[in-house]
Amino acid sequence: MAFEYDDQNIFAKILRGEIPCDKVLENDHALAFRDIAPQAPDHVLVIPKGAYVSYDHFAQQASDAEIIGLTRLVGEVCAHVGVQPDGFRMVANTGPNAIQDVPHLHVHVLAGRPLGRMLRDQSDLL
Ligand code: 5GP
Repeated sequence: MAFEYDDQNIFAKILRGEIPCDKVLENDHALAFRDIAPQAPDHVLVIPKGAYVSYDHFAQQASDAEIIGLTRLVGEVCAHVGVQPDGFRMVANTGPNAIQDVPHLHVHVLAGRPLGRMLRDQSDLL
């Protein structure tokens, strides 16, 4: 499948410095910043600097350096936030079935409170 990237999405604008973000950490290939509407005491978004719409797009087409860069930044965010020993959740919503709102890959890192089961019941499908 061909992945189509819209460079007017809000995270592309953050990467270009056109709108601000609450930056947590950054490396050559990825940026981590706090979610504007946090769903946990720590809610950080980790995004690649490259133009990837979704995790499957990234995993299929990104370079090894980009994949390592994003993955290492997730690890650094986990250490920075202090997710251990209580743990955390990583989520990468993709496409309409997962209600992906921003069409630039972002990994949610959620921590700081019990997060419940991943999918509990029908209310999770709304
Ligand atoms: P999605 O539903 O696509 O997985 O998640 C998008 C996330 O981006 C949401 O949690 C939302 O709060 C966050 N978000 C949307 N716009 C902005 C913004 O301008 N700045 C920041 N920091 N987060 C945003």
